[in-house]
Amino acid sequence: RFVVFEGVEGCGKTTQLARLQDWLQTNGFIEAGQKQGILSSLVVTREPGGTILGQEIRRLLLHHAVDDEPMQFRTELLLYAADRAQHVEGFLKPHLNQGALILCDRYTDSTIAYQGYGRGLDRAVIDQLNHLATQGLTSDLTLWLDVDVEIGLARAQRRGRSDRMEQAQLAFHRRVQQGFVELAQQYPDRIVRIDASCDEQSVAQQIQAVLQQRLIE
Ligand code: C5P
Ligand code: MG
Repeated sequence: RFVVFEGVEGCGKTTQLARLQDWLQTNGFIEAGQKQGILSSLVVTREPGGTILGQEIRRLLLHHAVDDEPMQFRTELLLYAADRAQHVEGFLKPHLNQGALILCDRYTDSTIAYQGYGRGLDRAVIDQLNHLATQGLTSDLTLWLDVDVEIGLARAQRRGRSDRMEQAQLAFHRRVQQGFVELAQQYPDRIVRIDASCDEQSVAQQIQAVLQQRLIE
């Protein structure tokens, strides 16, 4: 089973992913799955950067700061696709084949939202690249942590993510957010909206309820 966390800057993906991991481990869900032979392990990963090669790509994507040679949007798109191809083939598929439950921080929807809606790159091209990179591997469940862009950016700023604030133009992040809104409408079976504007504990409870319903049925 393949569970993905998505959302704008500061939506709480990483925090909530860790909380869900903790909850799944302590409530006996993993053990029960292992006993029934339907689950081998719990695996946590992220994009970009879920593989060793991917960590290098992540460094390029997040820390490329050459003033007179900014990264081109299509370069960025291709690096995300390259990271994903490596991750799917070398990490996600082998683990899923072994029966793992995977929690992944970002996946294909981020590329559509950021490079498509945010950067304005062509959706059909992005869909093709996503298909090339994933070979058709889609998530079983995508948790979209929906929070106002203003709240998210304020949270991210408090964490001192100044390396990311170059991107912090509100308009860009609003387009990204619109991307997630439309994706959730396009894929209502796969994408579940979580209200991520409330406190950490309530967000965690919403997520646990969805998991209980979708995976532990
Ligand atoms: O998931 P995380 O918050 O670590 O994202 C890393 C950074 O990469 C963020 O600043 C996010 O806005 C950016 N990103 C992007 N395009 C993607 C995925 C992430 O610009 N497809
Ligand atoms: Mg994060």
